[in-house]
Amino acid sequence: PRLANQIAAGEVVERPANVVKELVENSLDAGATRIEVDAEQGGVKLIRIRDNGSGIEKDDLPLSLSRHATSKIVDLDDLESVQSLGFRGEALASIASVSRLSLSSHEQESELAYQVTAEGRDMATEVKPCAHPVGTTVEMRDLFFNTPARRKFLRTEKTEFNHLEEVVKRMALSRYDVSFQLRHNNKVIHSLRPCSSAFDQEKRIATLLSAQFMKEAVRIDMEAAGLKLWGWVGLPTFNRSQADMQYFFVNGRIVRDKLVAHAIRQAYQDVLYHGRHSAFVLYLELDPALVDVNVHPTKHEVRFRDGRLVHDFLFRTLHKALGEVRP
Ligand code: ADP
Ligand code: MG
Repeated sequence: PRLANQIAAGEVVERPANVVKELVENSLDAGATRIEVDAEQGGVKLIRIRDNGSGIEKDDLPLSLSRHATSKIVDLDDLESVQSLGFRGEALASIASVSRLSLSSHEQESELAYQVTAEGRDMATEVKPCAHPVGTTVEMRDLFFNTPARRKFLRTEKTEFNHLEEVVKRMALSRYDVSFQLRHNNKVIHSLRPCSSAFDQEKRIATLLSAQFMKEAVRIDMEAAGLKLWGWVGLPTFNRSQADMQYFFVNGRIVRDKLVAHAIRQAYQDVLYHGRHSAFVLYLELDPALVDVNVHPTKHEVRFRDGRLVHDFLFRTLHKALGEVRP
């Protein structure tokens, strides 16, 4: 089975950024309120994620490195209502199969902390005691050390780090209640405290994305027909220089969706006569039963049960907000 892992790993692990995404999602699923990400050499040499989540029980440690082991889905009916970010049980196994990995964890109820390690296809069967506060640390070293063909596709340290940083930004924008720290080559890149007000959120956005965007942004806050849209949209003066600053979250997950993009573009076009450049950080919240976010593990697609309703709601809300500030 370990060999199968190595083949399948390509699905989720293409570069260090994918590793960070999977590991941070695991930390969030574990209820962490503080997540620290350490990277070296763009994440190729080292990615270490430390969280203060619920931890993993001793007996579950080896299991969590094996494929299709997940604690998040109990039966198939859960698939319909799954709220956790991961549920396929393949991320840790995939990452372990192409790196040197150690997983250390202290489960809330347990007195001691334990560690398991894996090196490529060889997983140590031994579970050793270790020192660790409540929570989990995953340390991944030497990504693709055993798959040189895959290593060749990695880009420069700077490019890999940029991708990795982008993942952390998205996570930090999706969970204002969680504190995040990102370090690269021992230098603190971002240190974000939890936000307890809209003011704090705006500060986080200004730090992560752009102070300029935040200064001119229009605040959105609208609720109708079971749909809620909140966040910030940029004005054209800013947008022209930052055409790609587009963050749209559906129930806390970042999404790239044609229907959403279309609704936003139309609203801009209608009010401001051009829809090409828009910058926004927006959050759509709706009944999870009305949206399928599990279309693909790595692509950011969603499927709305009532696409037309969502489209109209987005269009109308943005149209109104932009109309009010139209220069
Ligand atoms: P999935 O997230 O799809 O369940 P993963 O391979 O990402 O699969 O993780 C396997 C299992 O390991 C999870 O279901 C969870 O039980 C456990 N796990 C992984 N990371 C953490 C963490 N940071 N804190 C607590 N449990 C974790
Ligand atoms: Mg996971």
